[in-house]
Amino acid sequence: MTEHTPPAARTSNGQGAGPRRPAGEADVIVVGAGPAGSTTAYYLAQSGLDVLLLEKSRFPREKVCGDGLTPRGVKALVAMGINISEQDGWIRNKGLRVIGAGLRMELPWPELSSYPGYGLVRARTDFDQTLARRAQQAGARLHEGVTVTGPVLDDRTGRITGVTARPEGTADERIYTSRIVVAADGNSSRLSVAMGLRKRDDRPLGVAVRTYYKTPRHDDDYLEGWLDLWDSDRLLPGYGWIFGMGDGTSNVGLGLLNTSAAFGHTDYHALLRKWLAGMPAEWGFTEENRTQPIRGAALPMGFNRTPHYYRGLLLAGDAGGMVNPFNGEGIAYAMESGEILARTITQALARARRAETERVLAGYPRALNDAYGGYYAIGRTFVKAIGRPGLMRFATKHGMSRPALMAFALKLLANLTDPRGDASDRLVNGLSKLAPNPR
Ligand SMILES: Cc1cc2nc3c(=O)[nH]c(=O)nc-3n(C[C@H](O)[C@H](O)[C@H](O)COP(=O)(O)OP(=O)(O)OC[C@H]3O[C@@H](n4cnc5c(N)ncnc54)[C@H](O)[C@@H]3O)c2cc1C
Repeated sequence: MTEHTPPAARTSNGQGAGPRRPAGEADVIVVGAGPAGSTTAYYLAQSGLDVLLLEKSRFPREKVCGDGLTPRGVKALVAMGINISEQDGWIRNKGLRVIGAGLRMELPWPELSSYPGYGLVRARTDFDQTLARRAQQAGARLHEGVTVTGPVLDDRTGRITGVTARPEGTADERIYTSRIVVAADGNSSRLSVAMGLRKRDDRPLGVAVRTYYKTPRHDDDYLEGWLDLWDSDRLLPGYGWIFGMGDGTSNVGLGLLNTSAAFGHTDYHALLRKWLAGMPAEWGFTEENRTQPIRGAALPMGFNRTPHYYRGLLLAGDAGGMVNPFNGEGIAYAMESGEILARTITQALARARRAETERVLAGYPRALNDAYGGYYAIGRTFVKAIGRPGLMRFATKHGMSRPALMAFALKLLANLTDPRGDASDRLVNGLSKLAPNPR
C-alpha cells in the first residue's frame, strides 16, 4: 500500500527526544473519533488504506450537543450504510416548528431529490459510538483511551509525520507515525494549535448550552426552535431548541452568536432558566425533572480555522471550524468534510511522486471552498446582520407572518436545496455562487 515510507520520527513535540521506535505506524492517523474522525476513518479504510483512529475517551461517552440531525445529516449516515431504523433507536422528525413573535409555524423539511424528507434525533452517546464502530467494521484501527499530545515533525521540512500520544493509565508518551495526519479533534483542536493553526477572530463563533428534562413532549415529531431569547428588552441573535429524545426526555438548550454585544457576558444557565420559566407548566421543564447537568461548549462556524491543509495536516469538522453559521448544525458538516478529506487523501497517496501527492492534498481546501465557501460567506454576513439590535426583531416579526418566506428561510438556513431545483433553490444556490468569498 505504502509508496513512500514516512520519514522517521525525529522529534517529540520538537523537544529533541531523538529517534525512537514508533508504537504504531499507519498510512493515515486520524486524531479524534467524533463524527468527523470516524467518517474520515471509515472512507479511508474502505479505500484500503491503513488507518489509525486515536480517541482520548472511551465509548460510549458524553458529548455536549443538541442531538438533532437535519436531512443533511441523515444523508451522510445513509451514505455510510448505517442502520437508521426506528427499531434501532433513531427518532425521526418531519421538519422544524418555529416559535417567535407570538406565532408558531410548522415547516416540513423540503421535498428534494438530493436529501431525504426527514431528520433524526439520537443521543451523541450512542451516535458517536455507532459511527466509530462503523469505521472499525470498515477496517480502521480504533485505539480508545489514547490522548494525542502533539505533532511529530520532520526536522528538515517541518512537516508532520505522526503524533505523540499517551495511552490511558501510562505515564510515558508514545510515538505513532504515518504519511498523513488528520486533525478531527474538535473545537479546541490542540493538534492544529500545536501546528500554529489558531482560530480566526474574523469568523463567527457560537456558544450553546444544553440539558435534558423528563417531559411529556419527548416524542415530538418536529424539531422545535424558539427565536425569542431576550436579554432585558433586547432580542438576542440565537435560538432555543426543544428536541424530543423519544425516551421520556427532551434535549433542551440555547445558543448565541458572538456578533451580539451580549456575547461574552451572558450567564447562559440563567438565560436558559429564564426562557424555560415562560413555558407551560405541563411540559415539566423544572429543576426536579432535569436529568443531567447544564453543559455548554463553543461552535466554531464559517471556516473559523484555516488553512485546512498545512504541512501534512488536514482539518475536518469542528477542528476546521465548519459549523453552519446559519443554524449551528455541525454534525453533517463534520461528516461531509470527513468524506471529502478521505477521498482527497486516497487519491493523493496513490500518486507515485511526493510532489504529486502534495498537489492533490493542496486541493482539499479548494474542494471545501467549492462545497461551502460561498454559502458560509453569506452566513457570515447573516450573523453580523442579526447581531445588530433591532434587525433580529424585524426579521422575526416579518418572517413569522409569511409562511412562504419562512419555507424559503428553512432551505437557506438548513442548506437544503437541489442543484437544479425550484426558484427558491436556484436563488439560494445563486447567492452562494455570487457571494464574495475571501479565504
Ligand atoms: C450545545 C451544543 C449543541 C449542538 N447541537 C447540535 C445539533 O443539534 N446538531 C448538530 O448537527 N450539531 C450540533 N452541535 C455541533 C456539533 O456538536 C459539532 O459540530 C460536532 O460534534 C463536530 O464533530 P467533530 O467530529 O468535528 O468534533 P467532536 O464531536 O468534538 O469530536 C472530537 C473528538 O476528538 C476527541 N479528541 C479531542 N482531543 C483529542 C486528543 N488530544 N487526542 C485524542 N482524541 C481527542 C474528542 O474526545 C472527541 O471524541 C452542537 C454543539 C453544541 C456545543
